[in-house]
Parts: sequence; C-alpha cells; structure tokens
Amino acid sequence: MQKNIVLAEGAGFCFGVKRAIDIAFDVAQKHKDGVFTLGPIIHNPQVVERLKDLGVYPVDEISQKTIKTLIIRAHGIPKEKFNELKQLDCEIIDATCPFVKKAQNLAEKLASEGYQVLIIGDREHPEVKGIFSYAGEKAIVINHADNELKESKKIPILNKKIGIIQQTTQPMSKVKEIMNKIINSLNEFEEIRIFNTLCNFTSRRLEATEKVAKEVDVMIVVGGKNSANTTQLANLCRKIGVKTYHIEDAQEIDKKWVNSAKKIGVTAGASTPQWIIDEVIDKIKKFTN
Ligand code: SF4
Repeated sequence: MQKNIVLAEGAGFCFGVKRAIDIAFDVAQKHKDGVFTLGPIIHNPQVVERLKDLGVYPVDEISQKTIKTLIIRAHGIPKEKFNELKQLDCEIIDATCPFVKKAQNLAEKLASEGYQVLIIGDREHPEVKGIFSYAGEKAIVINHADNELKESKKIPILNKKIGIIQQTTQPMSKVKEIMNKIINSLNEFEEIRIFNTLCNFTSRRLEATEKVAKEVDVMIVVGGKNSANTTQLANLCRKIGVKTYHIEDAQEIDKKWVNSAKKIGVTAGASTPQWIIDEVIDKIKKFTN
C-alpha cells in the first residue's frame, strides 16, 4: 500500500540561500580557478561538495595568495572582516542575503543615532556576529527571556534609548516573549524603537512544518546537522510530540522509521537543495511500497 507522504510547503532553499548558490554557480562558470567562499557557502555538505567539483572551495583563512575571487555567504560577515577583505588583491562578491543586509544596515543606523542596539538571537550564530559588528559598542544580544531578562538588574541596558532588531530566523513566539519582558520595564526607557527584521521565509516554513507535524506519525527533517534552521525545525517537531528524525540525505533513512507509520511528513531547512528532498521522498516511497 502506498503510504501517505506529506511535504511541508516551502521546504528547502529560501530566497537568500538560493540567491547565494546561484551566484556561486554563476561565478564557477565564468572563472575557472581561484574561486573561494569565505566559510562554506551554506550549511549543507552536499552542496559544498558539488561546488568543489566545479572549482569553488570554502576557505577559512583569507591569507592565501591563490584567491582571485572570494564570495561572501548568505549569512554575511562582520564589518571588520569585510573591511579587511577590501584590502586584498582579489574580487569580492557579496552574496549576503538582502534581509540580513537590512538588519546590518539598521543596526549601524540605530547605533549612529545614539540608540543602544538590542539584537534578539543566538550570539554564536555567524549572522548575529555580523549584525553585532555593525551595532556599536553598547550593543547586546539577548537569546533567552528567562535567563537574561528575569531580573531587570541583569539587563546591561546602558541607554535610555534602545533600538530592537532580530536575527532573521528567530521564532516569533520567542521574540514576543522577550519583547514583553522589555516592555514591562518600559519605565526605564525614554524611547524604544522596534524593527521587524524577521524573515518571512523562515516563519512560513516553521508554520507549514508545524501543520504537517501535527497530522503525521513520523517527521523526516532534511538538512545539514550544523544548520541552525534545520535543527530548529527538528526541535519544533519533537516539541509537538511526533517521532522525528533529522537526516542530511536519503542514505540515512532507516526502513524501520517509516514501516509502521501510516502518514509520513517531510520538511527541509533553508539550505537543503531540491534534489536531496526528491531523493528522500523517493527512498521513503521505495521503503513503503
Ligand atoms: S532565511 Fe531569510 S534571511 Fe536567511 S538567508 Fe534565507 S531569505 Fe535570507
């Protein structure tokens, strides 16, 4: 019996990742050597391998003399690093996602207008490190409402004027929780400016995944193990209580996972290419037919 397989809407590449990948493939066509990306272009090892086959390699250090063209990935990079790169004798191609750029620009503008910038997000994430570098010396990153904002004394607020922005991929529920805590201490501020720098692609994918996870017996979440947004999808599914497996490609699927399920859900992170999603669905069909 063919089992019911439901693919979450919007699974796979988001606009910014697709744009960065298209840029990388396009550059690979035009330049035959010396093309590098600063770090892996996206958090997906299979895509990184395909690009390597075309002569585009990830590099962590920028001192290599062989670099002729350097592509900046979708998450963006810190301002100081960008300035450093501009000094190099190579072509810089900026594939930073326009939504991330918007957050960087807002951070810089708010800091220059005297606001203390609060960034809601994960301070270890490369995107946040990039935004933070534009946000001035008083900027802070807040990741958990409970840990960091429970006691108002703990908030390292230095200004009466604050500007709030978010890492593009943060869940709205978490942002609202932190914002509520800040607004509860409203009497401490003269002015609070709030900008929405969340990316719709992420919230739409989360909503679509939640919908599917609630109606299936098993969820297969496809994407790099080091991809924050794929991990976020897997955690969401687990929170809903559905049996969830986070895999990078079709090879990892175990027949036992899908055998006893009547309905199987599939979703994928922003850095998962369509060809991997197709292979996963084909493998599930093969196991369940
Ligand atoms: S998730 Fe949104 S902000 Fe991040 S790269 Fe994709 S489109 Fe850009």
